[in-house]
Amino acid sequence: MSHRFNVGDHVILGQHEIDRFLGAPRAWVLYMDNYVGRVATITGQYKYMGEQAYYVDIDGGKYFWYETVLKHAINNPNQKCIECNISAPHAAEGQYTCSFCLASKELDAS
Ligand SMILES: [Zn+2]
Repeated sequence: MSHRFNVGDHVILGQHEIDRFLGAPRAWVLYMDNYVGRVATITGQYKYMGEQAYYVDIDGGKYFWYETVLKHAINNPNQKCIECNISAPHAAEGQYTCSFCLASKELDAS
Protein backbone atom coordinates (compact mmCIF):
# COMPACT_ATOMS: atom_id res chain seq x y z
CA MET A 1 0.00 0.00 0.00
CA SER A 2 1.34 3.38 -0.92
CA HIS A 3 1.28 6.33 1.43
CA ARG A 4 -0.06 9.74 0.63
CA PHE A 5 2.98 11.46 2.12
CA ASN A 6 6.72 10.95 2.07
CA VAL A 7 9.56 12.10 4.28
CA GLY A 8 10.37 15.67 3.29
CA ASP A 9 6.82 16.56 2.22
CA HIS A 10 5.41 19.84 3.53
CA VAL A 11 2.03 19.40 5.15
CA ILE A 12 -0.57 21.35 7.12
CA LEU A 13 -1.34 19.72 10.47
CA GLY A 14 -4.93 19.13 11.51
CA GLN A 15 -6.63 18.01 14.70
CA HIS A 16 -7.35 14.30 15.03
CA GLU A 17 -11.01 13.35 14.84
CA ILE A 18 -13.04 13.41 18.05
CA ASP A 19 -13.40 10.08 19.85
CA ARG A 20 -17.08 9.95 20.77
CA PHE A 21 -16.41 8.04 23.99
CA LEU A 22 -13.64 10.35 25.18
CA GLY A 23 -15.27 13.51 23.82
CA ALA A 24 -11.77 14.57 22.82
CA PRO A 25 -9.48 13.99 19.86
CA ARG A 26 -8.05 10.49 19.53
CA ALA A 27 -4.38 9.93 20.39
CA TRP A 28 -3.96 13.55 21.32
CA VAL A 29 -2.23 15.67 23.95
CA LEU A 30 -3.21 19.29 24.55
CA TYR A 31 0.24 20.46 23.55
CA MET A 32 -0.56 19.37 19.98
CA ASP A 33 -3.15 22.18 19.79
CA ASN A 34 -0.24 24.58 19.33
CA TYR A 35 0.57 23.03 15.97
CA VAL A 36 -2.85 22.71 14.34
CA GLY A 37 -2.98 24.68 11.09
CA ARG A 38 0.77 25.07 10.88
CA VAL A 39 3.07 23.93 8.11
CA ALA A 40 5.42 21.09 9.00
CA THR A 41 7.86 18.80 7.22
CA ILE A 42 7.39 15.05 7.51
CA THR A 43 10.36 13.37 9.16
CA GLY A 44 9.15 9.81 9.49
CA GLN A 45 6.31 7.32 9.28
CA TYR A 46 4.55 5.50 12.07
CA LYS A 47 1.77 2.93 12.26
CA TYR A 48 -0.53 3.22 15.25
CA MET A 49 -3.13 0.47 15.69
CA GLY A 50 -2.98 -0.21 11.96
CA GLU A 51 -3.45 3.42 10.98
CA GLN A 52 -0.90 5.37 9.00
CA ALA A 53 0.59 8.30 10.87
CA TYR A 54 3.64 10.53 10.55
CA TYR A 55 6.22 12.35 12.59
CA VAL A 56 7.00 15.97 11.74
CA ASP A 57 9.74 18.48 12.47
CA ILE A 58 7.98 21.37 14.23
CA ASP A 59 6.90 19.46 17.35
CA GLY A 60 10.36 17.97 17.68
CA GLY A 61 9.05 14.57 16.53
CA LYS A 62 7.39 14.00 19.91
CA TYR A 63 3.94 13.19 18.57
CA PHE A 64 2.42 11.37 15.61
CA TRP A 65 -0.16 12.83 13.27
CA TYR A 66 -2.73 10.67 11.50
CA GLU A 67 -2.56 10.68 7.73
CA THR A 68 -6.27 11.55 7.55
CA VAL A 69 -5.73 15.01 9.12
CA LEU A 70 -2.76 16.09 6.99
CA LYS A 71 -3.03 18.22 3.86
CA HIS A 72 -0.32 18.86 1.32
CA ALA A 73 1.10 22.34 1.75
CA ILE A 74 1.71 24.34 -1.40
CA ASN A 75 4.35 26.85 -2.37
CA ASN A 76 2.23 29.51 -4.04
CA PRO A 77 3.07 33.18 -3.49
CA ASN A 78 -0.48 34.12 -4.53
CA GLN A 79 -2.26 32.02 -1.93
CA LYS A 80 -4.21 34.13 0.59
CA CYS A 81 -6.60 33.60 3.47
CA ILE A 82 -10.15 33.93 2.12
CA GLU A 83 -11.21 35.78 5.30
CA CYS A 84 -8.49 38.33 6.04
CA ASN A 85 -6.49 38.19 2.78
CA ILE A 86 -3.19 37.64 4.57
CA SER A 87 -0.53 36.13 2.31
CA ALA A 88 -0.03 32.41 2.97
CA PRO A 89 2.44 31.01 0.43
CA HIS A 90 2.76 27.66 2.24
CA ALA A 91 -0.90 27.17 3.05
CA ALA A 92 -3.10 24.26 2.06
CA GLU A 93 -4.26 24.03 -1.53
CA GLY A 94 -7.63 25.42 -2.55
CA GLN A 95 -9.67 27.73 -0.34
CA TYR A 96 -7.57 28.54 2.68
CA THR A 97 -8.55 30.05 6.01
CA CYS A 98 -5.65 31.00 8.28
CA SER A 99 -5.46 29.60 11.81
CA PHE A 100 -6.18 33.06 13.28
CA CYS A 101 -9.44 33.42 11.32
CA LEU A 102 -10.38 29.81 12.12
CA ALA A 103 -9.91 30.53 15.83
CA SER A 104 -12.03 33.69 15.73
CA LYS A 105 -14.78 31.78 13.86
CA GLU A 106 -14.81 29.18 16.62
CA LEU A 107 -15.15 31.95 19.22
CA ASP A 108 -18.11 33.42 17.31
CA ALA A 109 -19.78 30.02 17.23
CA SER A 110 -19.52 29.43 20.96
ZN1 LIG B 1 -7.18 34.95 7.94
